[in-house]
Amino acid sequence: MGTGTINVFANEDAYSKEIRNLLKEKLKKSGFTVPKEFDRQAELTVSIGGDGAFLRTLHEHQFPPMPFLGINTGHMGFFQELHPKDMDEFIFLYKQGRYAIQDLKTVKVVLKTKEGTFSYQGLNEIIVKGENSRAIHLNISIGSSFIERFSGDGIVVSTPAGSTAYNYSLGGSIVDPRLSILQITPIAPMNTTAYRSFTSSVVLPKELFVRIHPEQQKHDGIMIVSDGFENRHVGVVELTFAFSDTIVKLMRLENYDFWNKVKTKFL
Ligand code: NAP
Repeated sequence: MGTGTINVFANEDAYSKEIRNLLKEKLKKSGFTVPKEFDRQAELTVSIGGDGAFLRTLHEHQFPPMPFLGINTGHMGFFQELHPKDMDEFIFLYKQGRYAIQDLKTVKVVLKTKEGTFSYQGLNEIIVKGENSRAIHLNISIGSSFIERFSGDGIVVSTPAGSTAYNYSLGGSIVDPRLSILQITPIAPMNTTAYRSFTSSVVLPKELFVRIHPEQQKHDGIMIVSDGFENRHVGVVELTFAFSDTIVKLMRLENYDFWNKVKTKFL
């Protein structure tokens, strides 16, 4: 790192592309190299768009190690730090090293199926749910204790960074990203004389893992959705969710404050 190379990516909308071209010019004038293709050795990756654009860049490049900066072009922009009008100020501050790096924790899942073992990573969350809008039945253990037979639409295992995303819409808690926890939030849990499951989120320390044995699906598969990216699996025998060692580094400018951001986006 420290190569003077900065990756710049934008989502598909015309305004984001315009900002991308402008930023590339400004960076080149300031002595930086902007490669045509993603450079894994670059010192920074800039993602222009909304949170979705940032999550896409992250997944397309398998959670690369350099810091990310998000430029928000009119979306929710929870991860996105900079307004396009502040590009010059950013380059000025960046050259002087006047920024902070926020370390965001991630979640992983390892799936054992009849066909083999698969794993996925999420910055916001990983969801397990049924296919074709069908209810799913999951035997859930936390650590070495069997907890419940969940029945419902599915469960969301979210990180602190993802607590303000899908988790929040489901009634889960907003978690300060300085905490190292995972939150398990049910999606439409059934509570009848036939089925009983927790109706609220549960919050776990980073040492604990969650093991799930799904009840055998006849024809339908199970959907694993990581930050919005869907994967279908059949014959799933076991899923293990755990806190991951992979850290996503997000560049924050000097006046960043998590709770102020929460207030401006939600209240
Ligand atoms: P999307 O369906 O196009 O957009 C989902 C919305 O969530 C966008 O407004 C996005 O912000 C926002 N968002 C993403 N990460 C966030 C975070 N950490 N905190 C607060 N808001 C956040 O999908 P997408 O843009 O590709 O994002 C994927 C994410 O969508 C998933 O990880 C999941 O959390 C979320 N999602 C939410 C619901 C729900 O709330 N009911 C349902 C499905 C998925 P931008 O506008 O800046 O892109």
